[in-house]
Amino acid sequence: MRGRYSIAAAILASRSPHRAADAFSPPLSRGESLSSSSSPLRSTSTSIAAADNESDWSTSLVDDTLEAMGSDVERLELDERIARMGIDGMTREERARRRRALHELGVPDFMGYVSDHRDGDQDDNDNVVVRDGRLRRKSPNILQLNIGLYCNQACNHCHVESSPLRTSETMNADVAARCLALLRNSPITVDTLDLTGGAPELNGQFRILVSMARAWSNESGRDLTIIDRCNLTALLEPGQTDLIDFLRDNRVTIVASLPCYGEGNVDAQRGRGVFRRSIEALSRLNDAGYGSPDRPDLRLDLVYNPGGPFLPPSQSGLEVDYKRELMDNFGIRFNNLLTITNMPIKRFADFLAREGKMKEYMELLVNNYNHRTVEGLMCLNTVSVGWDGTLYDCDFNQQLGMGIVGDGKNEGWGRGDGDGEGRTTGGRRRRLSVFDIESLMDLGEYSVRTDDHCFGCTAGSG
Ligand code: SF4
Ligand code: SF4
Repeated sequence: MRGRYSIAAAILASRSPHRAADAFSPPLSRGESLSSSSSPLRSTSTSIAAADNESDWSTSLVDDTLEAMGSDVERLELDERIARMGIDGMTREERARRRRALHELGVPDFMGYVSDHRDGDQDDNDNVVVRDGRLRRKSPNILQLNIGLYCNQACNHCHVESSPLRTSETMNADVAARCLALLRNSPITVDTLDLTGGAPELNGQFRILVSMARAWSNESGRDLTIIDRCNLTALLEPGQTDLIDFLRDNRVTIVASLPCYGEGNVDAQRGRGVFRRSIEALSRLNDAGYGSPDRPDLRLDLVYNPGGPFLPPSQSGLEVDYKRELMDNFGIRFNNLLTITNMPIKRFADFLAREGKMKEYMELLVNNYNHRTVEGLMCLNTVSVGWDGTLYDCDFNQQLGMGIVGDGKNEGWGRGDGDGEGRTTGGRRRRLSVFDIESLMDLGEYSVRTDDHCFGCTAGSG
């Protein structure tokens, strides 16, 4: 089975403007720039670089990120714990903390809580998503690929633990080709390819996936939204000066993180210099047509997440503030602001544990449980794929190692089920991979794997 896709992968790799199979394209370091700092897309009227001669957008952010990581005591302690306990051990400890917090609050597990707080009308609804104490999938319409954990930033809330040091966890050409095959094999209802990371644009498979998917959708007449989960600063990395042209030409939707419209808050959460680079990247995207009312095909959405253990404010109210501040101060426009709740996992869970606030935060999530969010949970219509091809219900489960478990048909694939949750007697059941299915519809029989972190998806407006 895999050999078939290796051939496809080789073809894909030969067409890549970047490196071949397993391509990984870390940005060049300082002094190795391939190009000048100016971009054909820039307009001096909107560029903050014009007002700051000190800024040099041609250098990589990686050096600054690594320097900050090296002097961050909490991160060094975290690295030491990972070395001592392993990622799986850390994940188990984190999960035990969430459980303990809920136990102290007298709250049952997530699905117990959901079952006890159902909307009465749901019992008569044919599309009921909660049945027998489990979440049931709907027909999928989003294929989400986490194509690698490498990132030029190392944000202190990152739920995927990305950084410039994560160079080995990167999607290879076999897996990328298989994902494209699944997209083609899936029904017309699957209309979105969502690319995330790390910084997905810095992965060698990114441009291959985007251009092949767009070419297929053009040839087949299938509507396909391609989303790039962009950290903005990746657009300025050395060697990426043509990236915005590429995104525009392939009509890629940009969903970009910007947790505040103020420099101090953004840099505190995402690293020194990130705000100014982000503003420069947004200016260049605007110059290319992104966020313009005349180009509805070039969507630019921003994402806000809280800087601490609190829920996001009203999306519509905050969007008004963002639009005013970014336009008045930098001449920047965008389509919509999306607000998301911080999930109590990974770096944010470490922060909560360090501050002794895990119980307080879980209580906040539980007290703000909103049963109306359940019908819209992303795990109901998304299939999430890890960099190694493992299948998950969502990106959060992916980071917790909670893969979709079943009787895989591809005996040569897989690393077994490491979390002990999905193993059955005989050990035949294991995490499924993209090589175990022919279409996303094949996952219809599996219920969603939930756990206590899921309270982060049902708090407030979800
Ligand atoms: S930019 Fe995104 S992926 Fe990269 S470290 Fe920050 S939160 Fe993580
Ligand atoms: S964290 Fe839980 S509720 Fe949220 S999308 Fe994932 S599986 Fe669904």
